[in-house]
Amino acid sequence: MSQVMVDVRGVHKSYGPLEVLRGVDLTVRAGEVTVIVGPSGSGKSTLLRTINHLEKVDRGWVSVDGELIGYRRHGGKLHELKEKDVLKQRTHIGFVFQDFNLFPHLTVLENLVEAPVSALRRSREEAERTARRLLDRVGLAGQADSYPRRLSGGQQQRVAIARALALEPKVLLFDEPTSALDPELVGEVLDVVGDLARTGTTMIVVTHEIGFAREVADTVVFMDGGVVVEQGPPGTVLDNPRHERTRAFLSKVL
Ligand code: ADP
Ligand code: MG
Repeated sequence: MSQVMVDVRGVHKSYGPLEVLRGVDLTVRAGEVTVIVGPSGSGKSTLLRTINHLEKVDRGWVSVDGELIGYRRHGGKLHELKEKDVLKQRTHIGFVFQDFNLFPHLTVLENLVEAPVSALRRSREEAERTARRLLDRVGLAGQADSYPRRLSGGQQQRVAIARALALEPKVLLFDEPTSALDPELVGEVLDVVGDLARTGTTMIVVTHEIGFAREVADTVVFMDGGVVVEQGPPGTVLDNPRHERTRAFLSKVL
């Protein structure tokens, strides 16, 4: 089996009195696609946000490529990393948001060039070359000089994916990447994500697109109430779930 890329162990997270993650374990291997499904409020976004330390965990730990996220181990104890070390870790963890989050004042090309130059210290020339190659890969070679507001939602999300790839992430996290799109634009974004899956990009995708999960996922994880209720190959979790909660959820979304 391939190496473990993301490891989540016993993660708890509360907002005030509300316990949102109640002991989550998740293992993602290099080159695999994990699709997380589950009802609204079950903690899916919070889980993704703990994986790149946008949220601090209350208990448990997360590691990416063998490195503890947000912490280091010292004498058996976990010590928090400094903000600048967290930022450095985060450059290797790509995040694609529901609402794209492109820089509106930068062209498409500049959106892709900015972080590699500032965070990875790439030369402008090299960053531009990579950016053009990635835009070509997501089918937007012709839009390099456009501003995000000129593009459709589907195009903007493809730019966001290319921008995440420009940082050569060890893992790409997607939080409902097609939920903000008009239905006719969903397919073009899922096609890009499916292509990345075929080329071995390690990904964790939160989505309600069950057809996509069935086709692309190596593992489907069903979350409810802050825990992983069940996980396994799509054929098992989606077509033959063991838990009543999974069945009840699927009967609503399918
Ligand atoms: P999902 O992505 O599965 O819909 P979330 O992880 O977004 O679930 O949210 C889980 C629960 O945590 C929800 O009840 C939500 O209202 C709550 N929550 C999320 N973020 C915050 C926050 N920053 N402060 C307080 N409550 C939050
Ligand atoms: Mg969410």
